[in-house]
Amino acid sequence: MRKRVFLKTFGCRTNIYDSNIMLQNIKDFDIVDCEEDADIIVVNSCTVTNGADSSARSYINSVNKMGKKVILAGCGAISKGDELLKSDKIFGYFGHSEKSKINQLLKSDKKFAQKGDLSFVDSDVVEDFSSYTKAFIKIQEGCDFNCSYCIIPMVRGRARSMDEKRILAQIEKLALNGYGEFVLSGTNLGSYGKDTNSSIAKLLKKISQIKGVKRIRLGSLEPVQIDDEFKELLDESWIEKHLHIALQHTSEKMLRIMRRRNILKDDLNLFELIADKGFSLGTDFITGHPGESEQIWSEALKNFKSFPITHLHAFTFSKRDHTHSATIKETVAGDIAKERLKILEEIVKNNNFKFRKDIKKPLLVLVEESRGENQVGYDQFFNKVYIKSDLDLKKEWISVEEFEVKMDANYARL
Ligand code: SF4
Repeated sequence: MRKRVFLKTFGCRTNIYDSNIMLQNIKDFDIVDCEEDADIIVVNSCTVTNGADSSARSYINSVNKMGKKVILAGCGAISKGDELLKSDKIFGYFGHSEKSKINQLLKSDKKFAQKGDLSFVDSDVVEDFSSYTKAFIKIQEGCDFNCSYCIIPMVRGRARSMDEKRILAQIEKLALNGYGEFVLSGTNLGSYGKDTNSSIAKLLKKISQIKGVKRIRLGSLEPVQIDDEFKELLDESWIEKHLHIALQHTSEKMLRIMRRRNILKDDLNLFELIADKGFSLGTDFITGHPGESEQIWSEALKNFKSFPITHLHAFTFSKRDHTHSATIKETVAGDIAKERLKILEEIVKNNNFKFRKDIKKPLLVLVEESRGENQVGYDQFFNKVYIKSDLDLKKEWISVEEFEVKMDANYARL
């Protein structure tokens, strides 16, 4: 009887993409939908914060208790693989570059540790995302930025771009398979093309010309990567009217402590320019980074209020070993960091509500799933829309003219 494998994915869109590559390379095992039915569990892990490490660790502990064989993959395999292997929590681990060999690795009857090569470029592409309505396309890997708190460059390597021809061919196939929305992802998306004499703007133009491509959504961009060539695309109909631009902080002093490349004054100009074009804007923010004194925080808060931010991905600082930030002595208590985070979330919640109330255009919604009596999707501003209808709308593009704006989301009836 064939052995059964369950794959558990933690973390970001890049990991979702990597998991799909793993799934399509598993040939001699049955893939199952839950832990209980599996003989082997592959954990595609994330190691971006201490919290991410503990989630993976407690998951591994729980499936160990069920007597399953556990294989670790993803970013955590590089940072925690040796430790977990030594303590017998896992049977083996493999790094990003080894994921296409998963079928072979799963057959191994000896414990294994295969970190692989941090300068590889994926050659496999994903041709179907059976459980998603949108397609995730990885266009680049790695990061050269070295922000003081971040471990990612150590586990994903230096920035390098996927082959353009492969990216375009993959999108052509997926568009033929009925996908209309494409989400471009990468560790440091905006550095696409720096090593291949291209740019993200050039790639976007080419993708937009593929028949069937209706909407292109981008993962996180760095403010310094949004150049004039990119700004020229902002009026195109195929670009989602939402960008996520990672600020991480709004105090100039703090940005320097964090060894960030963005400059507060330029950030504000950039956000205002893009918001004036009708975009909703998201950002990342870390509260409680070492050195975030009361004075720095109050400056940051004052500045934050002037940014037109409608979506927020905020974290409290989480210490990572082997990073510069882990060596800074002026730490901030966890409850203060949490309080600061809540203040920012409240501001953005209100900004988002106001943004949605001011929308004068129909919402273009790609319906993703049913939830209770509603069907749910996202509009062009990356806001959630609940639709009540007797029709099955999954995977349909709907133009919603009338909708009710509530604090948590927009609501419509068809
Ligand atoms: S840009 Fe900074 S935070 Fe983002 S992956 Fe690179 S080093 Fe980490």
